[in-house]
Amino acid sequence: MLKMAANKNKDNLGEMPVTTLQGVGPRNAERLERLGISSVQDLLFHLPSRYQDRTRIVPIGSLRPGEQVVVEGEIELNDVKYGRRRSLLVQITDGSGSLILRFFHFSAVQKGNLVRGVRLRCFGEVRRGPTALELIHPEYSRLDDSDEHAVEETLTPIYPTTEGMHQLSWRSMTERALAMLDEQPELLQEWLPPELLERYNLPALLESLRFLHRPPPDAPQHLLLEGAHPAQRRLAFEELLAHQISLRKLRHEQRRTAAPILDGETQLKAALLASLPFMLTAAQQRVVAEISTDLKQQHPMMRLVQGDVGSGKTVVAALAAIQAVEAGHQVVLMAPTELLAEQHLRNFQGWLEPLGVKVAWLTGRHKGKKREQILATLADGSADVVVGTHALFQGDVQFHALGLAIIDEQHRFGVHQRLALREKGAEKGRVPHQLIMTATPIPRTLAMSAYADLDLSVIDELPPGRKPVATVVIPDSRRDEVISRVRSACKAGRQAYWVCTLIEESEALQCQAAEDTAALLTESLPELSVGLVHGRLKASEKEQIMLDFKAGKLDLLVATTVIEVGVDVPNASLMIIENPERLGLAQLHQLRGRVGRGSAESHCLLMYHLLSERARERLSTMRATNDGFVIAQKDLELRGPGEVLGTRQTGEMQLRIADLIHHQPLLPEVQQAAEIILEHYPDHAQPLVKRWLGQKTEYGAV
Ligand code: ADP
Ligand code: MG
Repeated sequence: MLKMAANKNKDNLGEMPVTTLQGVGPRNAERLERLGISSVQDLLFHLPSRYQDRTRIVPIGSLRPGEQVVVEGEIELNDVKYGRRRSLLVQITDGSGSLILRFFHFSAVQKGNLVRGVRLRCFGEVRRGPTALELIHPEYSRLDDSDEHAVEETLTPIYPTTEGMHQLSWRSMTERALAMLDEQPELLQEWLPPELLERYNLPALLESLRFLHRPPPDAPQHLLLEGAHPAQRRLAFEELLAHQISLRKLRHEQRRTAAPILDGETQLKAALLASLPFMLTAAQQRVVAEISTDLKQQHPMMRLVQGDVGSGKTVVAALAAIQAVEAGHQVVLMAPTELLAEQHLRNFQGWLEPLGVKVAWLTGRHKGKKREQILATLADGSADVVVGTHALFQGDVQFHALGLAIIDEQHRFGVHQRLALREKGAEKGRVPHQLIMTATPIPRTLAMSAYADLDLSVIDELPPGRKPVATVVIPDSRRDEVISRVRSACKAGRQAYWVCTLIEESEALQCQAAEDTAALLTESLPELSVGLVHGRLKASEKEQIMLDFKAGKLDLLVATTVIEVGVDVPNASLMIIENPERLGLAQLHQLRGRVGRGSAESHCLLMYHLLSERARERLSTMRATNDGFVIAQKDLELRGPGEVLGTRQTGEMQLRIADLIHHQPLLPEVQQAAEIILEHYPDHAQPLVKRWLGQKTEYGAV
């Protein structure tokens, strides 16, 4: 099977390029690369998404609509029908009944071949036709009397694919890879010790792979489709384990590096607290204390602060910043968008500059001379705090003495970027402390897995006096009423958001929808000033509009979901969300968090177009609660995959087989198993990480 018999240097499937397999040339290798498959091992970890049963020939007389089946029969009739669409109809029978094969595209040759008396084997999905059961465009082959025609011995795997790769190629590639393993099972090491396999009731690796690529005819397809088969669980388990181990190692390394001890005066901190127009909530106080203790250690803090929208994370960040500044160090605060960076800048300036702290700012907009000037203040230490965006990651940004990096809404940044920032601050072998803030409520077990390299603080309390946003679910046939509601709110001096949503379609369509809506609303509400923001505007245009809205120059802001994160306009007390049925609960919650920030009673109108039973249930959760954690939990139950962590976050973990939501019940076991491996089988740790994270492991070594 191998082109080169036993290549001694490549004694491991993970190192063996796919081109080692016969029939896989550079063209296919390139296509596979698009799916992240470069080694034979990657190929085997690319699992079928479903299966077909071609193991049995089903008697025509017993067919039911909806089944995918193999049938055999002899052609009785062949006819071309000229209806709305020209089609070739071929009727076959096997004695138990007859069936029509319908082709919309066919050639003269094909028609000439499919004549009375010819025997066929067909595969397709049974549909109910006008007169009889039909197969539309079945796969078929001619049977000759002389030959034996075997049916498939296993279920037929259907692989997720990419352009130019046919299912037949997938089958032959995986066939070859499996055959190679038959000959040399040692090519794929079992890294889970028998002790663990037994304890967690997991089948062996090789057995699992073979099963999933070629399930026996009686395999439980419903379990396979749900990803709940033990063979799938086994692979998911190993993958999650590899991630867990890598994050734990990362955490270990962290704890071994040195960080500046940020333990100085506390006068400025006290002055900042005294100057605030409010008292910190108990939750804020607790988290501030946790951070403060961390900053005084000689190892870098790596802390994730979770707090629902509006829980007051910014002031917590400012208190951390001032501790670093009082200890003679610099602080960088990074936000995912210019808009948010700007907002933080203004908060920080307002709080810190009166205390003599110098706050600078750097975004992609700062160019040339201006940029150089800013960079100089960072490098010579005359700026104490710098607020900005991705621009802060750039190579020429140097600090005099960076002590603390704060990252807001971290899911927009990856682990790598975080680490890059950390490297920046490294002075005399010391790396800055890191504080990461997110508004996405993540259930604890999930957080402990996705962020096993971080400590977790939760601000689980909103400032007092917040009135929950009253939420109503309303059909879009009542749009006129909704519009008059906007009119009266704005006449009373309040402001409103109108959010247009379209998911799974292009950003261009989404912007178009927002533009149309804005035009319509401008026409219906001539007495109001209406603004529009969407993703296709330049950052500076977007920002100007947001600033105008913040300053009260605009009454109504029509927007796409770009306003989802962090924007704070307390005077806005009404939000309309169009087609909320298309969004996940977590996202709706984030959006709704834009209102209810001031003293006025706030309202959110979820204006739906069509509600399924499920969507109704989801929206009623929004009506029933304002608590981000409750909503996240509900989301998990109702929507499952992707929604709670958000694709941005799951994307960070780059899971191939496991799914953090679906396999959540495995997580406690995975954590336990990681401990066992690290303690008793340390030699297995690195190969496991390498197998599943491959090149992405270099960060484990920093
Ligand atoms: P988020 O956690 O969503 O980032 P912010 O930091 O933007 O929340 O805070 C939301 C609003 O609440 C801001 O206007 C902030 O000044 C205010 N705030 C923060 N903490 C308190 C508090 N303890 N009491 C009253 N208001 C507070
Ligand atoms: Mg915020």
